[in-house]
Amino acid sequence: MTARILVVDDIEANRDLLETRLTAEYFNVITASDGQEALKICTETSVDLVLLDIMMPGIDGFEVCEQLKANAATCHIPVVIVTALDEMADRVRGLQAGADDFLTKPVDEMQLLARVRSLLRLKMLTDELRLRAVTARDIGLDTLLSDKDDDSGAKPKVLVVDERSSSFERLVKPLRKNFEIVHAGEPQGAVMTAAEGDFDCVFVAARFTEFDALRICSQLRSLDRTRFVPIILVAETDDDNLVKRGLELGVNDYIVRPVDPNELTARLRTQVRRKRYHDSLRDNVAASIELAVTDGLTGLHNRRYLDTHLETLVARGLNRGKQLSLLITDIDRFKDVNDTHGHDAGDDVLREFARRLRDNVRGMDLACRYGGEEFVIVMPDTPPHIAAEVAERLRAQIESDDFSIENGARTIEVTVSVGVTSLIQSENETAKALLKRADEALYEAKQTGRNRVVSRAA
Ligand code: GH3
Ligand code: MG
Ligand code: MG
Repeated sequence: MTARILVVDDIEANRDLLETRLTAEYFNVITASDGQEALKICTETSVDLVLLDIMMPGIDGFEVCEQLKANAATCHIPVVIVTALDEMADRVRGLQAGADDFLTKPVDEMQLLARVRSLLRLKMLTDELRLRAVTARDIGLDTLLSDKDDDSGAKPKVLVVDERSSSFERLVKPLRKNFEIVHAGEPQGAVMTAAEGDFDCVFVAARFTEFDALRICSQLRSLDRTRFVPIILVAETDDDNLVKRGLELGVNDYIVRPVDPNELTARLRTQVRRKRYHDSLRDNVAASIELAVTDGLTGLHNRRYLDTHLETLVARGLNRGKQLSLLITDIDRFKDVNDTHGHDAGDDVLREFARRLRDNVRGMDLACRYGGEEFVIVMPDTPPHIAAEVAERLRAQIESDDFSIENGARTIEVTVSVGVTSLIQSENETAKALLKRADEALYEAKQTGRNRVVSRAA
């Protein structure tokens, strides 16, 4: 894993120490000797992770962290606070300032690498999602992230896996007020519970009498439904090795007993905030992708989708010598529907038309709204005479059953013209040529009286 890590410390010896250790692991290390310089580097260059000293002249580490997290351009960079003392108050303040983790000096080498690696893994996921969200935005379809209320007032839901009821009670006491707590006392069932409920975080106690806690963690990481849920390991003081293996397995954080209630709450909040940020990015990406390929009025695929998939379907048909047919439909005198009954009536007709289209095709066929009142159906593995039959069945069905408009107050007659063509096994054949032939056939149908199907072979 190669990444650019910024080490911020006013003492040169401290910088050198971290730099040496990280460089030995092939990380690309840059350094800054004060907060101002660190902020400048983060905003002007690309940084994957910041190791941040607290006590520095000028602006201290807390403030640097706050500023990084408040800036949209840098808020996704993980920040690890490095505190001189094992000072609980500093840790909590650091986490409140938005830090993603902390290390105490002198820095334990194994811990340093485990934490850095786990945060970088997370950062890569975030970057990927951010990139996709930006791409979706670039194509002009992002409307969602901004108006999504990401915590909708609901209490975060937390699953605690701990077989000892007394230790469970001690742990969750400070959390009950602000979090919804679910207890799983039995390790095997815990993974199922996690998969079934939509949890914002899972605590796993490190010790079970007859079960390996890390197995629960790895099972959570391998199931689709829990792959992204934050996991916090609740360890005992001498569980170092277990914690390190846990972090390598993808555990997000750990906390050592006896647990400080403030630290517990702060760490949990950090995980929940991060999860919700990721969830909203992921939803945003999914929604934008969906929007980008779906026609809003009819719910059919849109032209963008057809354009990308038709090429693939044609290439597949040619490579495997398979048949493929395509038809274009265009509603007859549709402008008159709008002019006579209004645009809303026109929309009703389009929706109903799309519904009938969908009912007339198989699951493997691709039905799209090509534009206005034109629709395209692509039918893999379908010879010309079958395609002509499908087209004729559709045409007849549109003609015979009137369309209802104005909420069912009226019905009107609608007819459609259809152009049909099929794939030609030739090296000149392309998606574009196929569409063009279908379009010529459609034109002929219009020219020769409408409400008809015309097939065009080669
Ligand atoms: P032809 O038989 O030659 O196809 O005649 P036509 O009137 O159907 O063809 P023309 O292309 O002249 O008109 C298509 C009309 O479809 C014009 C346009 O306003 C209308 N239209 C396109 N998209 C929509 C839509 O989303 N909703 C509604 N209500 N009308 C639409
Ligand atoms: Mg038209
Ligand atoms: Mg038309």
